[in-house]
Amino acid sequence: MLKILPMDSFPKPKLFASRCLGFESCRYDGGIIHDAFIDKLKPYVEVITVCPEKKIELGVPRDPVRLVIQNNRKHMYQPATGRDITDRMESFTNEYLDKLEDVDGFILKHKSPSCGLGSVKIFSGFEGKVQHSRGAGLFGEAVMKKFAGLPVEDEGRLRNFSIREHFLTRLFTIAAFRELKKQGKMKDLVDFHSNNKMLFMAYNQKQMRELGRITANPDHLNTQEVISQYESHMLGLLKTMPRFTSWINMIQHAFGFISDDLEAGEKKFFLNSIEEYRDERIPLSVLIKLLNSYALRFNQDYLLRQTFLNPFPLELVDITDSGKGRNL
Ligand code: SF4
Repeated sequence: MLKILPMDSFPKPKLFASRCLGFESCRYDGGIIHDAFIDKLKPYVEVITVCPEKKIELGVPRDPVRLVIQNNRKHMYQPATGRDITDRMESFTNEYLDKLEDVDGFILKHKSPSCGLGSVKIFSGFEGKVQHSRGAGLFGEAVMKKFAGLPVEDEGRLRNFSIREHFLTRLFTIAAFRELKKQGKMKDLVDFHSNNKMLFMAYNQKQMRELGRITANPDHLNTQEVISQYESHMLGLLKTMPRFTSWINMIQHAFGFISDDLEAGEKKFFLNSIEEYRDERIPLSVLIKLLNSYALRFNQDYLLRQTFLNPFPLELVDITDSGKGRNL
């Protein structure tokens, strides 16, 4: 029997989502976007939603807005009415984001001049019909700036399997850390670091060691200071998706905990499986499931506590992929 954690073993992350992503028919044409991944995620998170364009009273339905570059500044412009609504959108955004607390991650609507993160068309000049470039919407850009350490994605990029797994891993790890922060106990931090050690090793071995040093608290700082230092390093560590070679290093390290107990044939099978993963013939999850089953068989408690075995609820695993592969 594999180790499967029940849904209530995970914290409920606080997730911000653009409101048109399945929560309200608030798009410019009165429509709503139904996204299978977000629908699946709903029972596992506490969702906060807003529609910035509705909040600044553009109405539903409304004439569409676009981003334009005028006098070297990015503006939000409504061609049908000739209105420049940049200041209204910026002041709503700043006020709203300043009040947004304890959020663990964001899913924003891609290509939107308000919520988009990087693929939004930007035109040259108010009357310009020519595309100048692509960039972020006004709300999306402010989110990325203010919440730079948190996972911020759009529903388009989350169709990629690797980006989705990385997003969910960060979201649930950060939510678990937020619970720990509320309690403010050193013992919880020590346990958190111990249980996440191998996951963090896959993300960044050097930073994982630095987190260990912070947890050991050689400078005798008070608990709040230690937790705050740990948090800022951890958010940095979790930013970049591990390369497959880093996963292999971590898997080999984890295998060291049980390899002596295995028969020669089993050892060879596992080492061959690592090579199959290296050659992209099997997914990482095969290696993780094998390790999990060995850890259960030999009652390897330290391995069984490691979060890389289940970084987020199993029900959220979905092998569908946009086809862009693992090396993004
Ligand atoms: S993308 Fe953002 S502004 Fe546009 S409808 Fe959706 S929530 Fe509203």
